[in-house]
Amino acid sequence: MGSQEVSNVDWQGKHVTVAGLGVSGIPAARALHERGALVTVVNDRDDERSRAQAAELEALGITVRLGDGDTLPESTELVVTAPGWKPGKPLFTAAAEAGVPVWGDVELAWRLRGQDGREPAPWLAVTGTNGKTTTVRMLASILEAAGLRTAAVGNIGVSLLDAVLGDETYDVLAVELSSYQLHWAPSLRAHSGAVLNLAPDHLDWHGSMAGYAADKGRIYEGNRVACVYNAQDAATEDLVREADVEEGCRAIGFTLGTPGPSQLGVVDGILVDRAFVADRQKQAQELAETSDVNPPAPHNIANALAAAALARAFGVPPKAVRDGLRAFRPDAHRIEHVADVSGVTYIDDSKATNTHAAEASLASYDPIVWIAGGLAKGATFDELVTGAAKRLKGVVLMGADRALIREALARHAPEVPVVDLDRTDTGAMSAAVREAARLAGPGDTVLLAPACASMDMFVNYNKRGEAFADAVRELADESA
Ligand code: ADP
Repeated sequence: MGSQEVSNVDWQGKHVTVAGLGVSGIPAARALHERGALVTVVNDRDDERSRAQAAELEALGITVRLGDGDTLPESTELVVTAPGWKPGKPLFTAAAEAGVPVWGDVELAWRLRGQDGREPAPWLAVTGTNGKTTTVRMLASILEAAGLRTAAVGNIGVSLLDAVLGDETYDVLAVELSSYQLHWAPSLRAHSGAVLNLAPDHLDWHGSMAGYAADKGRIYEGNRVACVYNAQDAATEDLVREADVEEGCRAIGFTLGTPGPSQLGVVDGILVDRAFVADRQKQAQELAETSDVNPPAPHNIANALAAAALARAFGVPPKAVRDGLRAFRPDAHRIEHVADVSGVTYIDDSKATNTHAAEASLASYDPIVWIAGGLAKGATFDELVTGAAKRLKGVVLMGADRALIREALARHAPEVPVVDLDRTDTGAMSAAVREAARLAGPGDTVLLAPACASMDMFVNYNKRGEAFADAVRELADESA
């Protein structure tokens, strides 16, 4: 099963090891088992939840080994891994030594598409450090406005396997891909791909910035129509240059400035296309107004331009771009307005799980009382703090790696008052909001933009955002 002989793998009797019981592992195990593969699922954890999941799979005749995700089962011919498993894990070292290929969930979906005789839908694929979910949802909204059968899938909560194998038939898929998924998807060939931006994140997983960038860049491999890059982020353009694409595939830039030929950009508050027009030297096509983008923050207009570029590469007319952008509603916990209390605005950007995202939201308000902290994932905070220092009225820190932010504040914004919350219990967010309220005055914004992951204190960023919103509502009730 080398990466060359892709399309028609005969699964009958193949020994496949599925690594990880979870959102991607369970459907992968089922799909392979249904095709006649001899599936063994391995999982690090052996807790109540995994035992229940294992029992369901075992009832189908799938072997499950709990509590050991490191040993490669004998006679394994292929490993299908959950995307988050680190490349350095002993399971993968053993697979490499045995010459056994490793696929992620995306690779498996890519290989299984069309095997049931249906014409497979092309993929319009989006990656980047930040803005993926927003852009993919905007893209799906635009494609829908054009009357196409589509769905937003991938790293967005809807498994690609389900999309590819389910009963629904699609004309085109709007696919969000994480750097992990791209790492494990060697033969993926999207119709068109976009890298929105590139900033350090997940370096503990990829080993280095170069490794992270290279994995993101895989999205451009084999593109047929367009490689969409951020003209204001040179690293994304470098990735296009390094990619091996189909003959005739074009590099299309997007910019918040005036677009050059083969770019989409902004002129006098209008989103314009100078790429997908008959004469790109002389012509520009109006797509939408910046006020059609929700919310119209600069980084979000960049997301809209990237979505528009992919849609236009697929042949969508300009009117559908505008209609689709107008119909789009952002997901929760992404610069979400929670309430105004005593003249102070409270914004939940819990999804700002890295410094690049936090930088975008810190740039959108002034003055700010900033709530930050959590798991830093190997990041440093000097640049972020330097850029935001002038707008900071106060800072409340919480979470495991808060000292890193406190030290950066001491270096670059020593005059800004900092409250360091040394607690990780469930009441910590409520305490943080109260401290922030104390530091803020009328006209200020209290901004939860942690610049860190949430898992030291919360199940995920949703729960962190909900805890923030609950605490703000509590405050509002008291002051009513
Ligand atoms: P992802 O799926 O890549 O995590 P989201 O659309 O969920 O992206 O947004 C994640 C966070 O990044 C949010 O906090 C949002 O405010 C911020 N963000 C969104 N788009 C951008 C962008 N283009 N550049 C920088 N930050 C962004």
